[in-house]
Amino acid sequence: MRRTGAMCRQLFLAACVLLGTHSGVAHAATPAGVQSAVDMLDHADHIKTSNHDEFLKLLGQLDQRQAELPARQRWQLRYLDAWQTAYEGRYDQAKPQLTEVVNQSGDATLQVRATATLVNILGIGHHYEDAFTRLSILVDQLPSVKDVEARYQALGEAAQFLTFAGQYELASGYAQQILDDAALRDHACQGMYFKLHAQYLGNRIKGSDPGFDHGIDTCLESRQELFANAMRGDRADYAIRQGHADEALALLQSHYDEVLSYRYPALIANFDSLLARAYWERGDLAQSRKYAMAALENSVHDEYAESRSLAYQALYNVENRLGNAQAALEYHEKYMDTDKGYLNDVTARALAYQTVKQQLLANKMQVDALNKQNQILQLQRRLDRKDMETSRLYIALLLTFVASIAFWLLRTKRSQLRFKRLATRDSLTGVHSRQHFVDEAEALLRVSARSTHDACLVLLDLDHFKDVNDTHGHLVGDLVLKRAVAACQHHLRRHDVFGRLGGEEFAVLMPDCSASQARERAERLRQAIAAAPLWGETRHVIVSASFGLASTDRSGYDLHQLMIDADNALYQAKREGRNRVVYGQLGDFIVSNEPGRPANDHTADAGSNLGNAASANNL
Ligand code: GH3
Ligand code: MG
Ligand code: MG
Repeated sequence: MRRTGAMCRQLFLAACVLLGTHSGVAHAATPAGVQSAVDMLDHADHIKTSNHDEFLKLLGQLDQRQAELPARQRWQLRYLDAWQTAYEGRYDQAKPQLTEVVNQSGDATLQVRATATLVNILGIGHHYEDAFTRLSILVDQLPSVKDVEARYQALGEAAQFLTFAGQYELASGYAQQILDDAALRDHACQGMYFKLHAQYLGNRIKGSDPGFDHGIDTCLESRQELFANAMRGDRADYAIRQGHADEALALLQSHYDEVLSYRYPALIANFDSLLARAYWERGDLAQSRKYAMAALENSVHDEYAESRSLAYQALYNVENRLGNAQAALEYHEKYMDTDKGYLNDVTARALAYQTVKQQLLANKMQVDALNKQNQILQLQRRLDRKDMETSRLYIALLLTFVASIAFWLLRTKRSQLRFKRLATRDSLTGVHSRQHFVDEAEALLRVSARSTHDACLVLLDLDHFKDVNDTHGHLVGDLVLKRAVAACQHHLRRHDVFGRLGGEEFAVLMPDCSASQARERAERLRQAIAAAPLWGETRHVIVSASFGLASTDRSGYDLHQLMIDADNALYQAKREGRNRVVYGQLGDFIVSNEPGRPANDHTADAGSNLGNAASANNL
């Protein structure tokens, strides 16, 4: 797979901030003439990203002067409040505020703007299906959107989000609409960036394409330096791939300070990870390490960012070259984990896009079928005896048409269900996929938080599983995975949520469960896995798993934090020798005392050829 997806995420995030600006040129503080609350509101709207401090001040004053605003402007103020909430990263709060504007303002422009912001934060929260559904509503509304900024916002969102879903052709089409629209001339720079970026990721153009020169010039003319630098990012990426690390370094270094000055972490992390790669190619290990570390720091809020996984890869390469085996190993593990998370996320986006597309198609067909049925009924009513004969023919034709639509509807529904299943179930083990697990676990944690009941998160990772594959082959490895899942399922309750995070790593969220209960239950799971051996080709395959446990009473109800704490505990379990349960936080771990047999002994002689593929297949 071509590893360029991060850029679309990067700029997708950048756009969360940038879409909706009126221009990149910084506006002066409130002009002397701004007196009325309405003027003040428009001015605030205008400067919200270019002069954010001033915007905040105005927002505070406007909240006091709400009574002076007409109804429409009051909704505009509410939209700006919601936008600010999203800007601060408080997405859970922003969502209901924006939804209220969409549902109740009755103002088409505000509805489009609020929907565009919603799509953005749903994407950031990885709620891709919801995001795509809303995006399609947004796109449907486009022809009736007259307000220039709202139109740009909707087109920009469509271009970026479709890039995000790997739909580069469609994305480039929306970017082209920005470029073709005379009223959107002020946004030519962004339009060019969206288009070039989609085409670059879709392999339609090279990073050396002269279109990039033109794009960069256009952005510099309109003082949209950030977008010019985003284009330079694509250029540098291409140069590195072509083996021209020096060229990439020159480009990145000469604009690095500028990029830092935007204080926009996603773009900075992208430059950092490109620099880490370029320095590695040139053999400058110290610089490569320095920028990889910086990339990690700047992408800390985006666990799925490709810049994170590239940074870990660079750190692994560097430590490996320097012969620091332990550090290299640790970075390799992190690299594998982030890479897996990133690739899962890319798949989740593409699947969500397909699911929504199928859903919309099915809805449209349903509407078509209903319309035709209505026509038939009306026709029947209007019939007079004389043209009964000819009309019967027409009715027969219409009925055939309805039947064929019904047939297609059925087919579409079926593939829709298939996509849904693909998106929510892990195909090998049948448990929840990573994203579905996250959605379900988050929902359950919200309920637990409201009722203040404890819940626990258990992460488990099979021990030395790579050796199982190496010794017995992947097929047996797959069976071991299924077997381990079945062993766990036997001990889970109806309300536990069980998912495969990727590879041989699984998670269980246990609602209504105290830490000590969860420790006992995890211990039972550990024993169940260890007690479920399997016949390999010639020998017993014996597996074990290590467990990390976190509880809401220590980590709170945020899944992300629970994951971090459970992951640290799991890491500790591996360090302590594997095949054990660890609970707690850094510096305060509690290790279960039943480590069982040595965890790296995967095989036991079967003494004969009893174990073979056939017996393995019975499992
Ligand atoms: P540790 O005890 O430290 O966890 O060591 P490990 O060998 O289990 O961990 P590592 O992450 O090095 O290896 C995991 C292996 O899992 C590598 C990969 O080939 C294998 N794997 C991942 N997904 C699957 C799968 O679906 N089927 C099979 N058979 N193997 C898989
Ligand atoms: Mg493992
Ligand atoms: Mg693992």
